[in-house]
Amino acid sequence: MKTIQLRIAGVVRESIVDGPGLRHTIFCQGCEHACPGCHNPETWDLHGGEVVDGETLLKRIPLNPLISGITFSGGEPFLQAPALAEFAAYFKKYDLNIWVYTGYQWDQLLNHIDRPGYRELLSYTDVLVDGPFIQSLRTTTHPFRGSSNQRLIKVAQSLESGAVVEWLP
Ligand code: SF4
Repeated sequence: MKTIQLRIAGVVRESIVDGPGLRHTIFCQGCEHACPGCHNPETWDLHGGEVVDGETLLKRIPLNPLISGITFSGGEPFLQAPALAEFAAYFKKYDLNIWVYTGYQWDQLLNHIDRPGYRELLSYTDVLVDGPFIQSLRTTTHPFRGSSNQRLIKVAQSLESGAVVEWLP
């Protein structure tokens, strides 16, 4: 893990808003979507945040039995897809589910599936929350989403069926 490098904005050790159950959330640094009304504009700078290696990051989120999953949020996680895929593979060994928040829409990701790490990161992702934050569609009633255009996509089932299969709470 020491050789993996990730640029992060921060981590939250115990989150209940970034997916089901108690989760560790890793906020990636860097985003080019520039959604008006974004709640985390400090994560946009591609050169901001902090670069950490895998071991340092894992020390900050010591896994405990109460944690049910890991969430990669941002920023835009797919800007660092190869590194996140390696982290995801590591967490999977501990039977943790993986949620990823992206500003890309599902079809956009599939159209660029050959970009470095995309396929691998998706292969480890249980649920993808897709699409940009749209201020006019802001919601407080749709769980785990900032705006109602975003979907909670079951990745494996969607890839298998060729159509988006949504995760339901
Ligand atoms: S994708 Fe997320 S982090 Fe990036 S601008 Fe949109 S809301 Fe902000």
